[in-house]
Amino acid sequence: MFVSENLDVNAQGHLTAGGIDTVELAEKYGTPLYVMDEELIRKTLRRFHDSMNKYYNGMGEVHYASKAFSCMEMCRIVASEGDGLDAVSIGELYTAVKAGFPMEKVGFHGNNKSDEELAYALEVGVGHIIVDNIPELHRLERIAGEKGVKPQIMFRIKPGIEAHTHDKIMTGQIDSKFGFALETGEAFEAVKEAVACENVEFYGVHCHIGSQIFDIEPFEAAAKVMLGFIAKIKNELGYEVKGLNLGGGFGIKYLNDHDPAPFETYLERVSSVVKSECEKLGIAQPRMFIEPGRSIAAPAGITLYTVGARKEIPGIRTYVSIDGGMCDNPRYILYQSEYEAVVANKANEERNEKVTIAGRCCESGDLIGENMPLQHAESGDIIAVLATGAYNYSMSSNYNRLQKPAVVFINNGESRIAVKRESLDDIIKNDV
Ligand SMILES: *Cc1c(COP(=O)(O)O)cnc(C)c1O
Repeated sequence: MFVSENLDVNAQGHLTAGGIDTVELAEKYGTPLYVMDEELIRKTLRRFHDSMNKYYNGMGEVHYASKAFSCMEMCRIVASEGDGLDAVSIGELYTAVKAGFPMEKVGFHGNNKSDEELAYALEVGVGHIIVDNIPELHRLERIAGEKGVKPQIMFRIKPGIEAHTHDKIMTGQIDSKFGFALETGEAFEAVKEAVACENVEFYGVHCHIGSQIFDIEPFEAAAKVMLGFIAKIKNELGYEVKGLNLGGGFGIKYLNDHDPAPFETYLERVSSVVKSECEKLGIAQPRMFIEPGRSIAAPAGITLYTVGARKEIPGIRTYVSIDGGMCDNPRYILYQSEYEAVVANKANEERNEKVTIAGRCCESGDLIGENMPLQHAESGDIIAVLATGAYNYSMSSNYNRLQKPAVVFINNGESRIAVKRESLDDIIKNDV
């Protein structure tokens, strides 16, 4: 009935998340409010790592891509499930460190890491640094030498696979700012250099072909290309690559008519391709890493808003204005991403209107969506936008000097604050 399995309607006709009345959450904590279901996060992490164990003989690791949604509580949850983390900035690393995350299970990414970030990553002992380009390799070689450490590195590779997705989130093709190109020989030349480095250990290869991908074929194709590259490195350089990181990008259900393949099926098929290719190419099975971000965080989250003004423009459209918008969810203005929304206090009624949900920022494009089916929404109603757990809070801003909403975690029928709502003093805290 709803896009995420943890949502339902209770006897009062209110939307529930993880069994908790969302209208009560809005009253208790105020709106706008991000609500994250810890049980669903844990369940999804387990689906991923159980499938890795089952289909890839326990030789796999799940690294949650923390850019989808990062805060200390999220890091603690991932750590307690025994999974790893992917971080893309010193801020994400710092969050993990402060949460007590086991840093040897962290992969550090980024297409333009600074010296400060590389040094910090070495100091806190991250497991892998995923190197994006040759100047970065040289800088890391120097910094590791100065510190007297020898980090394991992977190379980010552009496998030349184009996955069918929005073009701003497609990353595996040659015209991308991320990584080394295979076709041009750039990647192979870089590997030659890396294996000769004194202060880094070349551990593996990484690719990430995009996001919100529904098809399994592009993942299988990318795995094949990457294994071909691993075989070439073995045959021509006599060097055994130990790790294969296939990135994230698993699609989720944002709209009722979306029908992504179950994560188990992705992992079953990709594992089987990896195993058979290894056999065919005569290479050892590498340790396999995946980095799901959206698929873990998005379905577990909803955002609650209070309706303010309603404007009916006859023959044109109806605007329903809410107390948040692009500052807490910039995905519509960025990519015209679509969501399902529900009037939380009328969740048992039909969604028989089509409205535009408008944010409160001073931009005409500040919308949550257009032509959205919704119950009749009036001032004071609570609107829940569904599957907002990924790339909402993490992409939020203080545009218009709005305070970022609180994040509440729910679990076992209880709710708790994981991130406090920003205060007015937070808004001016760096002003001098
Ligand atoms: C963004 C990103 C991910 C996560 O992608 P999702 O689509 O959220 O699963 C994983 N790995 C890398 C390197 C990324 O940049």
